[in-house]
Amino acid sequence: MFAIGCHLSASKGFLAMGKEALSIGADTFQFFTRNPRGSRAKELDMDDIASFLAFAENRIRTPLAHAPYTLNPASADERIREFALLTLADDLKRLSHLPGSLYNLHPGSHVGQGTEPGIKQITEVLNHILWAENKTPLLLETMSGKGSEVGSRFEELRDIMNGVEYQEQVGICLDTCHVYAAGYDIVNELDGVLEEFDRIIGLEKLRAIHLNDSMHPMGSHKDRHAKIGEGTIGFSAFCRIVNHPALQNVPFYLETPQETVTGYAEEIKRLREVRK
Ligand code: FE
Ligand code: FE
Ligand code: ZN
Repeated sequence: MFAIGCHLSASKGFLAMGKEALSIGADTFQFFTRNPRGSRAKELDMDDIASFLAFAENRIRTPLAHAPYTLNPASADERIREFALLTLADDLKRLSHLPGSLYNLHPGSHVGQGTEPGIKQITEVLNHILWAENKTPLLLETMSGKGSEVGSRFEELRDIMNGVEYQEQVGICLDTCHVYAAGYDIVNELDGVLEEFDRIIGLEKLRAIHLNDSMHPMGSHKDRHAKIGEGTIGFSAFCRIVNHPALQNVPFYLETPQETVTGYAEEIKRLREVRK
């Protein structure tokens, strides 16, 4: 299977996102669960969800829900961790109404307390929000390592996951811009990077890929996305990524800086053309 889509605005609801995805040649999409900076979530419209699920059948695969990126479950400040915990728990509860979806979050920044305590705090938050019957996989996103971000090394993500009680519920979303900025050479050593991922985390844990080119060079620890083929990663590397045998069953999501969805439509078309 080759599932590819992009980030869409959730403001018009799920059915509208499903239709918009199809109209630009996508068969999946990503959306923010709530205002990425704010906290309040809209009341769930169950009629919209029911219409979406009927529409999505055989057309749309694994919508990827993205948590607000301002949450910080790795904070040294207990109130900030508590806020992240309540928001993540609420999102996961809401996502139980959207079967087949995935939930992606940034692990957090340790803001000076050190990587190890940060990892412990994240694990603790995850153990509070997951429950035995939860069906929505929770994905930790690979980060660029800007500031004090946790999760730019595969080892850190593994350590977070190892402390989680319901391990079968957690996975990874690999962001191509972030891993490249973190220092993993997916341009010249894609096989080696994926082998390292497999050795440290396990490729069966890789559930989603964010496809973004990078404005900054490898190892820069800067998180600035570029359009596919217009950054330091380059189009030929993306051809190898979407065709890599280890990634055949992983859905791809574009988060490139586009003004309108037309730009996404073109990127999706180009990537479908090179996909063998
Ligand atoms: Fe993200
Ligand atoms: Fe991303
Ligand atoms: Zn990013």
